[in-house]
Amino acid sequence: MQYPEWIWHNGEIKRWADATAHVMSHALHYGSSVFEGIRCYETPSGPAIFRLNDHNKRLFASAKIYEMQIPYTLEQINAACHEVIKRNGLTKAYLRPFAYRGLGGFGLSAETPIDVSVATWFMGPYLGDGVLEAGIDACVSSWQRFAPNTIPAGAKAGGNYLSGQLVAREARRLGFGEGIALASTGLLSEGAGENLFLVFDGALHTTPVSAALLNGITRNTIITLARDAGLTVVERDLPREYLYLCDELFMCGTAAEITPIRSVDGRQVGAGKPGPVTRQIQDLFFGLFDGRTRDTYGWLDPL
Ligand code: PMP
Repeated sequence: MQYPEWIWHNGEIKRWADATAHVMSHALHYGSSVFEGIRCYETPSGPAIFRLNDHNKRLFASAKIYEMQIPYTLEQINAACHEVIKRNGLTKAYLRPFAYRGLGGFGLSAETPIDVSVATWFMGPYLGDGVLEAGIDACVSSWQRFAPNTIPAGAKAGGNYLSGQLVAREARRLGFGEGIALASTGLLSEGAGENLFLVFDGALHTTPVSAALLNGITRNTIITLARDAGLTVVERDLPREYLYLCDELFMCGTAAEITPIRSVDGRQVGAGKPGPVTRQIQDLFFGLFDGRTRDTYGWLDPL
């Protein structure tokens, strides 16, 4: 990763190296951070941040769950996202706003200061070069997602990603492109850092928010675009074997975008390559950025 020059930290633009936290920061010990991942795309009318306000609303929602008072407004965080991309002269970029319990007090319920940063850097395809076209081989993880009455999956909190690391690292160690986790019910949940869509007879099926998953903004984007294109979308619980039996399968997220899955646990999915519905969804999604899909939703926020 090539670090950029500037970062937004507690209300100011600073040099990357100067945005430091103390080793005794609460978040380092207890996972008490909340964050977002947002992409900025190049479009025919200039760079635009995708669903900026929706992402940062989720940042505040995650903070609310953990009783963290972010000492800035939503509008200030949105403005910081714009500012840090511009200061770094980036056009195609990933944005990482985050808030964390900093230094001050000790113990789980300590009322620490809430520090806030917005980092940005260039990022290509998250799961590797060429995967958007070729697809990946995935596996079901031996690790399950957390039960709903343990850690809320609906918060995008740092601590949740201990689970994601176990799933992703196991998959890579075993030679797979990504891992998929089951919920504590034994039913399908989501990928290590991505939501799932399965295609049966031309209809899209995605696992519900009750299946221990993050309610992804890309997932919502796909549901909206697909329904507006006349496709059927169903949110439903699905057992593991449907991963092997569906006609097409893909994962989605801000980082992973729309990544086709060509096999799961060594079983070929459909024709073993991105199918027509997956390609249609990719076209609709990437069309938002190259001008083929009209943004009638107000999702593109020009820099
Ligand atoms: N699930 C998890 C666990 C994630 O980390 C992400 C990425 N933020 C997603 C799903 C997809 O969410 P989004 O489309 O909002 O990026």
